[in-house]
Amino acid sequence: MHAVRFWVEGKPHSGEYHDAHVTSGGRMWPVEAVRLLSPVTPSKIVCLGRNYAAHAEELNHEVPERPLLFFKPPSAVIGPDEAIVLPRSGRVDFEGELAIVIGRRCREVPARDAPSVIRGYTCLNDVTDREAQGWEKNWVRAKGFDTSCPIGPWIVSPDALEFPLTLETWVNGLRRQHTSTTALLVGIPEIIEEVSAVMTLEPGDVIATGTPAGVGPLAAGDWVEVRISGIGRLVNPVRTQD
Ligand code: ZN
Repeated sequence: MHAVRFWVEGKPHSGEYHDAHVTSGGRMWPVEAVRLLSPVTPSKIVCLGRNYAAHAEELNHEVPERPLLFFKPPSAVIGPDEAIVLPRSGRVDFEGELAIVIGRRCREVPARDAPSVIRGYTCLNDVTDREAQGWEKNWVRAKGFDTSCPIGPWIVSPDALEFPLTLETWVNGLRRQHTSTTALLVGIPEIIEEVSAVMTLEPGDVIATGTPAGVGPLAAGDWVEVRISGIGRLVNPVRTQD
């Protein structure tokens, strides 16, 4: 199942995407007739840093002994096709990532029980103000600005996916990141165990699993696209502030 949220007739709807159409409450629209929204409205977005060795290396960082965790605020979330608005910074990077969407309230979930709390998966772009990240210890400006968390286009249930997944990021039609999820240093069940040991996870919460090598800067006018096999494509334009 592909779960979507979309805007049509002046309000948001939750429903399903199938075969270029969206459905909600027994009604159907062609997908071009609606505006897709982020498929989730998370209470929090927990992100892993340096969870692919090749990416830690390109930024000259050690791979951490335990997963590095940080937040993006819910206010950073945008949907497919919505513009990433660049903060006034010397460098803002794309980071294509596989995102886990939590399906039920849970805490202290052992890795073996992780599948029971996963609703599905989607694409996420952990857009990062790299300049701020250089001087700011807690990454609030670097990771938390408005529009820095595109999510979508829909949530695909685990049983509809064949792991390992292939993750790619494209900018203006050029492929910039390419990995298999087999390269994740901390795997999905262990991520759930680690995060839920710290905090209660709520339905709709999102965990971003980290970005592979190949990150690079975005400029106004760019189109950035995160593609994951079996899920789809999350495309966002980039613009400067008004
Ligand atoms: Zn990231």
